[in-house]
Amino acid sequence: MRSQVDAEVIVVGLGAMGSQTLWRLAERGTDVLGIERFVPGHDRGASHGESRIIRSAYAEGAAYVPLVKRAWRLWRELEEASGRSLLERTGALMVGPADSSVIAGPLASARTWDLEYDLLQGAELRERYPQFAHAEGLLGFHERDAGYLRPEEAVTAGVAVAETRGARVVRETAVTEIVPDPDLLRVRTGDREYTARHVVVSVGGWLRGLLPATAPLMTVERRVMGWFRATDPLSFAAERLPVFVHSDASGDRSLYGFPCLDGETVKIGLHTWPGIDEPTDPALGHRPPDRADAERFADAIGRTLTGLDPYPVRMLSCMYALTPDRHFLVGPRRDLPGLTLLGGFSGHGFKFASVIGEIAAEFATTGGTTLPVAPFDPHRFD
Ligand SMILES: Cc1cc2nc3c(=O)[nH]c(=O)nc-3n(C[C@H](O)[C@H](O)[C@H](O)COP(=O)(O)OP(=O)(O)OC[C@H]3O[C@@H](n4cnc5c(N)ncnc54)[C@H](O)[C@@H]3O)c2cc1C
Repeated sequence: MRSQVDAEVIVVGLGAMGSQTLWRLAERGTDVLGIERFVPGHDRGASHGESRIIRSAYAEGAAYVPLVKRAWRLWRELEEASGRSLLERTGALMVGPADSSVIAGPLASARTWDLEYDLLQGAELRERYPQFAHAEGLLGFHERDAGYLRPEEAVTAGVAVAETRGARVVRETAVTEIVPDPDLLRVRTGDREYTARHVVVSVGGWLRGLLPATAPLMTVERRVMGWFRATDPLSFAAERLPVFVHSDASGDRSLYGFPCLDGETVKIGLHTWPGIDEPTDPALGHRPPDRADAERFADAIGRTLTGLDPYPVRMLSCMYALTPDRHFLVGPRRDLPGLTLLGGFSGHGFKFASVIGEIAAEFATTGGTTLPVAPFDPHRFD
């Protein structure tokens, strides 16, 4: 006889991935319980700061394209179910030298999947996008199927819709241990133990603290986002400038940004840049932004854009959970039967959260997935 459990599935961590997993499981009618260390939508993990880019012609590999297409449809479904606006289509502009990953990568994806794009160069690029002050010799790859998501809204919408479909949520409670037992898993918090048939672990940068065996799979780094006053906010409005990524040839200096969303400022982040790869311990919290961050931004803006104050009016810290190959960890762990791992989203995972939630829900309820996730096998580094 199978033993009784507190929930068929427990989702540990309700950030980007966990909130969507909770929603997709609840949508299937699964008896699901979510446990979150803080309150969903908080600013101490990786899923805050008002905006996240979604792109389709995927620079990081053509294998991601079917996933982003499905993610896009699921975000629209969540908008409908929650009545909230989560995703804006602005298009995306990638700017860099012809051999940089921001140009060669999306071009390869677009050709593999027959996606529409425009390639801009020379005067055409500079005239259409005069915000890029130093675009001589660079190319612009523009695609229409891109835009931005509202991360806090997306996380809280996922949890809220899941709760209306019967999911239970335990807030402000950290899971301290997950212990396998025949036929079930035991999930321990400070004062209680919950049992489940399946556990999805989606704790972002906190992974190694919870599952020490995963420590070699991931490093955690602090990243800072900044908001910059525009001299003429209209020239940065979404009608004039889509979401964008700009990189040098080596990829060592790359930044991304959004059109002006508040009528005054433009948000910029440094994806790679000398000096930003500072390890961080999520147990202690990410270090607040400081003068050195502001100076680095001023350098980056001076080299790239025109029409923005080079020093930020505000900044926020966040964290990247990076795998050695910068691809995700999605799938079962053989050392912990009944556990699905979602982690290592390496600074580009948010756009996929809805489809990752669907994949996790499939693993949890059927033991497999119909979506192509072989490149993300958590055992590929063994
Ligand atoms: C500055 C920045 C910019 C980015 N820009 C983009 C972008 O433009 N586009 C894009 O697609 N991606 C982007 N990303 C990446 C994307 O945001 C992340 O990949 C994604 O948010 C990771 O989600 P997660 O669920 O793995 O982690 P998180 O959202 O951090 O969620 C983990 C959750 O687990 C909870 N938790 C931790 N430990 C426990 C425990 N023991 N018990 C219970 N709960 C626990 C935490 O409180 C947290 O809520 C960016 C990331 C950063 C930092």
